Amino acid sequence: MSDVLTTAVLVLNRHFQPVQVTSARRAFSLLFRGAAWAIDESGESLDFWSWARLPARKGDDLVPTVSLVLRVPRVLRVAHYDRVPRTIIHLSHRNVMLRDQFQCQYCGRTPAPSELNIDHVVPRSQGGEDSWENLVTACRPCNLKKGGRTPDQSGMHLIRPAARPRWSIVREIMLDGAGRYKEWEPFLKVG
Ligand SMILES: [Zn+2]
Repeated sequence: MSDVLTTAVLVLNRHFQPVQVTSARRAFSLLFRGAAWAIDESGESLDFWSWARLPARKGDDLVPTVSLVLRVPRVLRVAHYDRVPRTIIHLSHRNVMLRDQFQCQYCGRTPAPSELNIDHVVPRSQGGEDSWENLVTACRPCNLKKGGRTPDQSGMHLIRPAARPRWSIVREIMLDGAGRYKEWEPFLKVG
């Protein structure tokens, strides 16, 4: 049951725009408090008790409670988006590569992702930190050539400055193939 409660639920704002992905546990909490509606397969917004009356279908994730069996909603719509914290895009190697569109930030080439490394613009040995501003995608030859030097020391310059990405949550979800449900697709196409 704990696994079921960590299932991903797509959260929409009042205007049916995707704003984040949350857990089934949080989805039920919002639904039960009346802060959100669950979206059924026909696109209808249902409150907790209407949702709880829906029969379980084959393939549904279910939460057995004392008096009823609850389907885990795949899509939730929140009444006031400000009740849901904005998703932070985590600093990770994968997300740095996504931001850089798998392009070496020194030579501009786009080799196979397996040929790409993450480069510290200011090397760690010179006090460079792990940050959006200091991590970039680099191909192996550029990474090797630059070694433990800064761009100025190596004469290798970034094709664009590194910064925290501003992509929308939609793009992030679209790019992340894992953990998506077919019920999300009509909403992810928007925007
Ligand atoms: Zn390169």
